Amino acid sequence: MMLSRCTMCKRRNAMYMRPYSGEKLCATCFCRSVEDKVRATIAKHDMLKFNDKIAIGVSGGKDSMTLLSILAKLEKSFPKARLMAITVDEGISGYRDEALNIAEKFCQKLAVEHIVVSFKDLFGFEFDELAKDLIMKDPSIERLTPCAYCGVLRRRALNTAARNCEAAKLATGHNLDDETQTILLNVFHGDPQRIARVKPVSSAAHPKFIRRIKPLCEVLEKEATLYAYLKQIEFQSIPCPYSYAALRNDIRTMLNRMEEKHAGLKYTVYRSAEKLRNHIGEALPATGLNSCKLCGEPTVHAICQPCKLLENFKLYRG
Ligand code: SF4
Ligand code: ZN
Ligand code: ZN
Repeated sequence: MMLSRCTMCKRRNAMYMRPYSGEKLCATCFCRSVEDKVRATIAKHDMLKFNDKIAIGVSGGKDSMTLLSILAKLEKSFPKARLMAITVDEGISGYRDEALNIAEKFCQKLAVEHIVVSFKDLFGFEFDELAKDLIMKDPSIERLTPCAYCGVLRRRALNTAARNCEAAKLATGHNLDDETQTILLNVFHGDPQRIARVKPVSSAAHPKFIRRIKPLCEVLEKEATLYAYLKQIEFQSIPCPYSYAALRNDIRTMLNRMEEKHAGLKYTVYRSAEKLRNHIGEALPATGLNSCKLCGEPTVHAICQPCKLLENFKLYRG
């Protein structure tokens, strides 16, 4: 398809048409528009202070690498802000090693401090062990997908590492697709109150909880990917061997099909949730975070999810 001139600069040839807005963009204007969107999202939600130390969860995938690249660029306008990157090594053989390398190389190039925290060091086992023993084999254990377990431990690992580095904020690469999938997941799980609680900036407060921000939450996944390609950012493209069978995958497929037919639908879902959040949020009781009775880490319950999971695993292993 011939795309003619870029509708922004009117000089260069367009290489991408934004279906939901009709804009035709050259590579330079496209990248600038993504950066502008991230900047606007940060301002809209008051995500950062000029002197924040920001820890970025960098998995080595396209979203977190794009986020790192954009924040490193924006950081230049805030000389007192400091960036660092955290990669969680879950212990997934044949998968995480490549991502670690890619993340390490990119951090070196950007002169961003990079640390790696592993499940093995934090919890005493690799995720492969847990996946094999706890999730796959034992039919008496409530069946959750591997990602449900891994996600709980990854969040704990990131929070602990960010706190140890004295970061003020923990930025993650969740994009608009992730957010809309989560909104629908909460509907399908019959948990509409969670729609109000999942926000671009977490509001829960606890001395051990590092506030989470999602600067890419209004960027489409395919645009985060295109940005990485155009900026020649290397990222890991092979999928995690456990990323299957989750309800989220079905929702992703459904949303992508619908977006193809009805451009802008993902933004509509996202905006609807924003409106709902404003209404439901007012009616919800304030949720303070407790300290877990076993480990002292922040939790909405009496015992945190990682402790429950680790207890199960210990019992199972004897
Ligand atoms: Fe963990 Fe699932 Fe991500 Fe794999 S895809 S690293 S199992 S959360
Ligand atoms: Zn242009
Ligand atoms: Zn605990």
